[in-house]
Parts: sequence; C-alpha cells; structure tokens
Amino acid sequence: MNRTELEKYKAMLEAKQTELSGGIRNRDEILIEKTPDALDEVQLAGERELAIRNLDREANLLRNVRAALFRINDGSYGICMHCEEEIKPKRLDAVPWAAYCIKCQEAVDRHEIAASESIDDLLAAA
Ligand SMILES: [Zn+2]
Repeated sequence: MNRTELEKYKAMLEAKQTELSGGIRNRDEILIEKTPDALDEVQLAGERELAIRNLDREANLLRNVRAALFRINDGSYGICMHCEEEIKPKRLDAVPWAAYCIKCQEAVDRHEIAASESIDDLLAAA
C-alpha cells in the first residue's frame, strides 16, 4: 500500500473515531434520564437498553478503529492479522478498520478465530 492510500484510510479512520467518540460520551445522559411516570419508565427502560446495546456496538467499533490506526502507525495496516495476506482495497474502502481478510473474517464470525483477543493484545502492546 502506498503513502497516499494509507493517508486516505487514516483520514477515514480518524473521522470515524471522532464520530464514535462523540456518540459514546452521550452514554451518561442516557443512563440518568428519568421520568416519574411508571409506564413511561418501562418504555424508557427498553429504549435505554437498546441505546446501550448500540453504544456497546459502537464501543467495539471504536476499539477496532483505534486498532486500525495503530496498525497504520506500525506499518501492518491492510494486512490480515490472521493469515497475513493483503486485505483487498475494495474491502478496506467499505470497512477501513477491517483487521482480517474476508475469508478470515468469516472464520472470526463463526468464532473459529478469537478476534477480540488479538485486538486486545495489540492495544495492550501499544
Ligand atoms: Zn486472512
């Protein structure tokens, strides 16, 4: 991958990181939201749960984005973390934080590879 491509993905990742960091800061506001009406409270609890689930997904995504930015700095960006093949540019354009090629990602999704652990290791080493 050349410098221009790297800069492009870096910019995409940084934009995503900013967007996600902003979303996650709203977590406290969701948690302290209260209403005196019991019926509303049930409904709100459901909405809160949904919002928290979304935030968990966002937090996870943010972790992947940060890990990708880290890989840009250490020069391993765009290389599958499992099989070490190059990740196709088409995939990176769609998912710039992709840590795996499509084949390995499918294995991760089927839990054949422990994805989060390897990302945690990477971030712990940072
Ligand atoms: Zn792979």
